[in-house]
Amino acid sequence: MKFQDSTFKGQCHCGALSFQFQPEKIELIECNCSICTMKGFIHLIVAKERFHLLSGTEQLQTYTFHTGVAIHKFCKICGIHPFYTPRSHPDCIDVNANCIDGFSVQDYEIRTFDGQNWEAKIETLLGSGTVNRHDEGLT
Ligand SMILES: [Zn+2]
Repeated sequence: MKFQDSTFKGQCHCGALSFQFQPEKIELIECNCSICTMKGFIHLIVAKERFHLLSGTEQLQTYTFHTGVAIHKFCKICGIHPFYTPRSHPDCIDVNANCIDGFSVQDYEIRTFDGQNWEAKIETLLGSGTVNRHDEGLT
């Protein structure tokens, strides 16, 4: 696709955290689990090697719960969660599309994932060929 080699940039609200990445494709996902709902997180999953943190390492705060596989990251200054390591794809970085510079999630179709029933529904997410499938990494 056209945007395949495009580089996107993003940041948290205060700008302390900044990053860039080159997505394989733009596929947006909205999850209804407890934390994604509260965050208002719109997921764009990117291979780890395609993601680069440009600034803010010292401002990154980590939060984990439940299985502890998902490594939630947020800016300790402004509290925004621009990206994290998702439980569904531990070898990837899950970017919050709402934190991408000049990007409007309204311009794209957004798939939904029933994260409230994660164990029962994860197949529906991974079966779509969303990203490279490191099935062995799943819990
Ligand atoms: Zn911030």
